[in-house]
Amino acid sequence: MPAIWPRLLERLASGDPVVGVDERRRWGRREFEHAIGMGIFRETEPATCILCDACPERHWAEVHVAGVSRRRFYACPEEGTQHVDAERLRQWRIDAGRVAELTAGALGISTTIEVLLLQHLWRLGRRRLGGRYRDIFLGVGGGPPLAEMSAAIRRSIGQGSALLLSVGCDGNPAEIPTGHQVVDFMAISRLEGVQVIVDLEYLEDRCTEGTPPARPTLPSIPAPAGATWRDVSVTVFEGFLRITIGGKEQEVEFAELGVDWQSQTIQLLKLFAAARGTLDAAKIGDLGAGDTGARMRVRRLRRVLQEVVEVDGDPIENHRRSKVYACQFEIRLAGDEGHRTLAGVTWLDLAFHERSDGRIAVAAPERRHFRARGAQNHRGESTGEVAEECRTATRTYCLEEMGLRTQAGRLSSEGAAFVGLLRAGGRLPRRSNDLVVLRLAQQLREWTGLEGEPLHLVEASRSWTAVFACSSEVKTS
Ligand SMILES: [Zn+2]
Repeated sequence: MPAIWPRLLERLASGDPVVGVDERRRWGRREFEHAIGMGIFRETEPATCILCDACPERHWAEVHVAGVSRRRFYACPEEGTQHVDAERLRQWRIDAGRVAELTAGALGISTTIEVLLLQHLWRLGRRRLGGRYRDIFLGVGGGPPLAEMSAAIRRSIGQGSALLLSVGCDGNPAEIPTGHQVVDFMAISRLEGVQVIVDLEYLEDRCTEGTPPARPTLPSIPAPAGATWRDVSVTVFEGFLRITIGGKEQEVEFAELGVDWQSQTIQLLKLFAAARGTLDAAKIGDLGAGDTGARMRVRRLRRVLQEVVEVDGDPIENHRRSKVYACQFEIRLAGDEGHRTLAGVTWLDLAFHERSDGRIAVAAPERRHFRARGAQNHRGESTGEVAEECRTATRTYCLEEMGLRTQAGRLSSEGAAFVGLLRAGGRLPRRSNDLVVLRLAQQLREWTGLEGEPLHLVEASRSWTAVFACSSEVKTS
């Protein structure tokens, strides 16, 4: 994934757009050549200072040019006169105007670009976004603050609505007038080969906010007062979602969400479901989105979820330190039904609990991968020392999913035995050759993937006891 784009944008925003041979090497020679080919870098005057590499001091020295020979040299206090290869002094300037042109091109705008504030603000042109025409601007930091850019925009277009793509502009976005929207350009753009790509889908979304949606209102699912995302469970089917909040179940088709089943948002949702709710940021990047793309996609999915489920708070938390996105609700793929248990886990490690809403909470040890803290590079980023921890995770299932109740809502004989077992704290007064008990044991083995007997016969009391912990919130008469 070309990393040169965010770096050169950062350099632009820092107000120091001249880069040397060292940067060319660090940023990748090939990408650098691409960028030169695109006109982003233009060769400029050679450097007049150089970092000495003749002595261990790493000091800066001024470069002199010898009269006739035009040879270049500098003086090192330790090692004396040092000649410098002209190649080492080459420098390139990032052409911010060219970045503006390429951005306009990526937005499909072909009208002439207008400079509003020299080296810092360009009017790229107009295009339709979020259902209406807007003027789009590119602002580069290291100069006037946002408020001043906003004033220049107003002078240029009057009261119209404007979208400012900001490359590290200083200032509080809250202070700029309504009608002017600021979007972090680094987060929505990237370089692919010799093309600048702008995430138009995201811009459309951003510009649609606040304006009434063109699609019919979402079938938002009401939640009981005080419900949080932890009370929500989502099962992802091929064309729809089944969402359960506080025992109430509702199905929503992707089309109703206003997203296509092939869209990135749904792909991401499925990825989360397959991973049971926790995804490495890098894995999302692997979808072809890169780091910034990952953030953007999660943001979009978050919005879809918040629109459809009437629960406050963040459904997908970004754990920056461990570079992991974690769904705050339960999510899984339909068909991924069995409860996955770890190797080495036995029936003794499991606990089944009947909730008052009739669903079964299953607590089991689960392995979690996380990046060890402390392993960081000089930029404070985690370098990805992967560690493992074992902890108890609780997942909730309905009896249908466990194969203990029919879709019509009738408990099977095994289901009735199972519920009886939980309510009696793990005792089941049945005979040794009771077929229902034997079938229940078989079903539990298959569902958990665990070997060994989940139920033991206690000859003396002529009853069965569960090896796993049993409890219930349901009062028995
Ligand atoms: Zn030196």
